[in-house]
Amino acid sequence: MTMLIKVDPLKPAEDVLRKAADLIREGGVVAFPTETVYGLGADCFNISAVLKIFQIKKRPADNPLIVHICDREQLKDLIDQDYQKASTVMDTFWPGPVTLIFRKKPVVPKEVTGGLETVAVRMPSHPVAYKLLKLSGTPIAAPSANLSGRPSPTRAEHVIEDLYGLVDAIVDGGETPFGIESTIMDFSRERPILLRPGPATIEEIQKLIPNLEIPEFLLKKVNEPVRPLSPGMAYRHYAPEKPLILVINENRLDEILLKYPDAPVICPQEMITRFYGRRTIVLGTLKEPFTIAQNLFHVLRTVDSVATKVAIAVGFEPKGILFSVMNRLRKAASEIIE
Ligand code: AMP
Ligand code: MG
Repeated sequence: MTMLIKVDPLKPAEDVLRKAADLIREGGVVAFPTETVYGLGADCFNISAVLKIFQIKKRPADNPLIVHICDREQLKDLIDQDYQKASTVMDTFWPGPVTLIFRKKPVVPKEVTGGLETVAVRMPSHPVAYKLLKLSGTPIAAPSANLSGRPSPTRAEHVIEDLYGLVDAIVDGGETPFGIESTIMDFSRERPILLRPGPATIEEIQKLIPNLEIPEFLLKKVNEPVRPLSPGMAYRHYAPEKPLILVINENRLDEILLKYPDAPVICPQEMITRFYGRRTIVLGTLKEPFTIAQNLFHVLRTVDSVATKVAIAVGFEPKGILFSVMNRLRKAASEIIE
């Protein structure tokens, strides 16, 4: 049975959230909102609880989870290295939408890290996530609360759609503010490297870490490596059930529109007049790129409810948060027109 727990996202009542925290402490699996997307959490030191996450999501065992904490003190129990070189990033972005990877302590179960000797850690800022962590009294291992491969959940309804009946509780704290998954940086190597772009933009993090390596495949200068830098990157992600054609080369847009006369187009507000007479799904205005990020996964889920075989999405100039949006769109697409 799944307990539905509705809370005020800004001021969650402690007695209500305590039910969710008790479930975590007893080895249960609970979905909860964070400032990025909804997470599916379990006590990170309870191996059977952690394994339930993989089973419920149908997640491959080698795709590691992110461990969430609410206090830097908790790092002592998790990581086996000096985190000095990450301290400016932590001071700036914690609590917040940035995940950092370090060498792990032996006590961190291999099941959490997909067999790796490193662990991903994040301190979320969402009041619900933060309070749930405080009340649980343990770091919470949590990937996104969707079925593996589906778009990440940004609303409790998305979690209900994918996981109702499979998890012990779903904490409903409304829509998640950023709407895309955290920025991930690996600090376990000599030179820090960006593994996943997210809400903290490349421009911002490069200012803080001038020697940060940005893999060339993220900048689209080369193809994705055959052996991924991060296990989760190997899988097709965030995808609607129907084929999605991402058009990056605008010169080929008319050709694609002709080829698929019934396909709806996912686009920014500024472009709708270009698709006169055709169904459009608006992501938001280019003047508010963070709103585009917030709406992205909801729109990708909407695509499946439209009765056509294919959908088209138009690409964005990959700047600021839209760089991360483009990264997700590329992973969601079944075909990319460049
Ligand atoms: P999710 O929370 O569903 O976005 O999944 C977490 C993602 O974090 C995984 O898919 C990996 O790409 C990444 N990740 C977690 N732990 C590690 C790690 N130790 N090394 C590299 N990447 C990691
Ligand atoms: Mg995920």
